[in-house]
Parts: sequence; structure tokens; C-alpha cells
Amino acid sequence: MRITSNFDSGNIQVIRAEQPDDIQLAINKDNQSDFFQWFHFKLDSTPFINHKLTIQNVDKAAYPDGWQNYQAVASYDREEWFRVDTEFDGTNLHIDHTPEHDITYFAYFAPYSYERHLDLISWAQTCFDCRHEHLGETLDGRDMSLLVVGQPEEGKKKIWITARQHPGETMAEWLIEGLLERLLDEDDGVGRSLLDKAVLYIVPNMNPDGSARGHLRTNANGANLNREWQSPSQENSPEVLYVLNKMQQTGVDMFLDVHGDEALPYNFVAGSEGTPSYNARIETLENRFKQAFLMATPEFQDEVGYPKDEPGKANLTVACNAVAHQFDCLAYTLEMPFKDNINLADAAYGWSPKRSKQLGEDVLIAIHAVADHLR
Ligand SMILES: [Zn+2]
Repeated sequence: MRITSNFDSGNIQVIRAEQPDDIQLAINKDNQSDFFQWFHFKLDSTPFINHKLTIQNVDKAAYPDGWQNYQAVASYDREEWFRVDTEFDGTNLHIDHTPEHDITYFAYFAPYSYERHLDLISWAQTCFDCRHEHLGETLDGRDMSLLVVGQPEEGKKKIWITARQHPGETMAEWLIEGLLERLLDEDDGVGRSLLDKAVLYIVPNMNPDGSARGHLRTNANGANLNREWQSPSQENSPEVLYVLNKMQQTGVDMFLDVHGDEALPYNFVAGSEGTPSYNARIETLENRFKQAFLMATPEFQDEVGYPKDEPGKANLTVACNAVAHQFDCLAYTLEMPFKDNINLADAAYGWSPKRSKQLGEDVLIAIHAVADHLR
């Protein structure tokens, strides 16, 4: 029997793996950080016998509530990621699984590989109206890529979308893949109409180093990028510095920052109501966006989410708040579940790459609904 995570976005520590009924594992912390929750590993063993895997001390993970009613994902072909039940005993996470093949991959959520990220960028740049811009290098020397979709023209709105500041939130890049496929489809009316009104600036992966390293939440240096938007630095958070500099060049009329939430089994948005510049104009735009999104898909809801910030109490180091404040624009954090949207629960797959991609297609309807009204 063999367990390894020595591959793109792999993360596991093997404590003991000699007997199928006593496999003891732990999750490595993000580099220079105390955050951990993302795991991704390969089990190479004998099929058709039960394997008992224990991931130790997950109560110390970043979001212990994430383990309640949680199902891990597993795959034999690295394409289809099905759910496997887990049990959280308050300290450890237990997975009982009888593999049907020699090799089984396990992960916290369906991975989105660095190679797939490069494929996405390369495919997108070949489409009409889309070009690639290199923003700079990360601390590990990877490329920060921006896709500019639409022809910049006087009067067009500038809409920025970023994803995966938190690298373990792979559903965010799955969403971008679906969003781009619709936006770049020349036969899609919503995409074409939106590009008549707006230019979209899209960063499919804000944290390629953390993604490849198998981190949950931070970059190569242990920085939580979504707390770096007040004073990003070349040394600690170049990813944010590049994007914020570019935003200052282009201007921003709307901003969407895409994430995943470990605990809440819903799709929801969190706004900028706690920023000093929040006003009735922004509130009207928020309501228009949410109404259109609710009409577009029952996967979105506005009943359950984060507590609203008190006026003036927003954390301005967070991307959504920082951009809303600096650019006086509509800004939302869009959260998807690691578990499932329990309004439309799916025991076999839970929240999945396919549903994330579909939500990316559907959110374009909500963006289209506000585009004329942003200024
Ligand atoms: Zn996040």
C-alpha cells in the first residue's frame, strides 16, 4: 500500500499506512502559516477491501465547522469526482472506503490543476475579443495572468472578476471556466450584449503558487491575499499588488471576487455595506444584481450568508471592501459551498465542478442585468 501527494496541489502527511484498516494521516499547514484544511492524495492499494482512513486533528483546521456533514471527494480517473461519506468525531475525520480500482485519489474538493489553468488561459486567448496580459511573477516565479475580454471603448463599463485568492477554493476557478465559455461563445446573446456594454477583466487564479503547493488559504509566503488589499507589497503579496495597480489604470465599475465557503451549504454573496463610501446607489445596484441572479438560477439564494457589517465597520484589507471603497463601485464576494447547496442537494456529487461552471454561466445574466446601471 502506498499513499503519496507528490503532485500538483497534493497535500497529505502519512503517519502510518501499513494496514488497510488503520491508515493514519494528517494535513500539512500552508507554508509559513497556521492555516490548513485542503488535502489531496493518492492511495495505491488492493481494490475491493475496506480501507479505514483517519485524518488526525482536523479540529485544529482553519474551519472545524467545515467537517460537520461533510463528504470528501474521490476519483479513479481524475475526471469524475464522486462524494464519499466522512465522520467527524470532534478531533479526527474518518473515511471508510472500498476502492474499485488499484488507485484512488482523495481530495477536499475537486482539484483544478495548474495545467488546466494554463489550458484555460491559452484557450481563452484564441477566442475573438479576448486577449492575455501578463501582470507579473509570483514569489515562486509563476505567471499572474489577466484576461481582457471585449474591446475597450469610451463609455464601456469596466467589470473586474477575480477568483481563487484562497487557493483551496477550486470551485472558484471552475466557475470562471464556465463563465468564460459562455462569455466567449459568439452565439450567446447574453455574452454578446454584455460585451457591447462592457469590458471584462478576469483573473482566473489570483494565487497560482498556493494552488500548486496544495495550500488552503495562503500564497508561497503564508500571506492570506484577501487581507492584503489595503497595503499589498512586492515581498509579501505581489499577486494583489499587480492586480490593484492594473485596476487603478483601468478603473473599476463593478467587482466580483469568487470564493468557496467551508461551512455554509449554500451559494451567497457578501457586499460592501460596512465601507465608509457605501450609499443608496450601491444598495440599489446590489438589489438589482441579486434579483436577476435569483431569477437566473435556484442555485443562488439570499436567505443564508455572512452577518452584515455594521456601517463603517468593514475590514478594508478584504478585496471586496477595498475595491468598493477605492472605486465607489458595486462589489461582491461570491461564495460557493465546499459541501453542497442543500436547497438542491445531490448525494452523489454534492457541489461540483459542473454546478460551479453552470453558476459561472448564470452569474453573467445578473452582471448583464446591472451593466447599464453601474454609473
Ligand atoms: Zn475564500
